[in-house]
Amino acid sequence: MNIPRIVRCPQCGKSSEYSARNPFRPFCSQRCRTTDLGAWANGDYTVPAEPSELTPEELETLMGEGLDEPPPANEPKKR
Ligand SMILES: [Zn+2]
Repeated sequence: MNIPRIVRCPQCGKSSEYSARNPFRPFCSQRCRTTDLGAWANGDYTVPAEPSELTPEELETLMGEGLDEPPPANEPKKR
């Protein structure tokens, strides 16, 4: 029996072969694998490089996950 085990790629959901022939398992391709790793690297662990250059409001924006509004462009915020 030589039936490859098929799993679903966690990244794109496509069928991928889960075997030694697929070095990217359980992902279907290197792209999906890289994308997943990139998501990890760019996730919550990202810290602003130069916090001192940011205003407290900007820091708040960066920290906040659920952004309802797009970042303010030029219009001043009314309080
Ligand atoms: Zn994939």
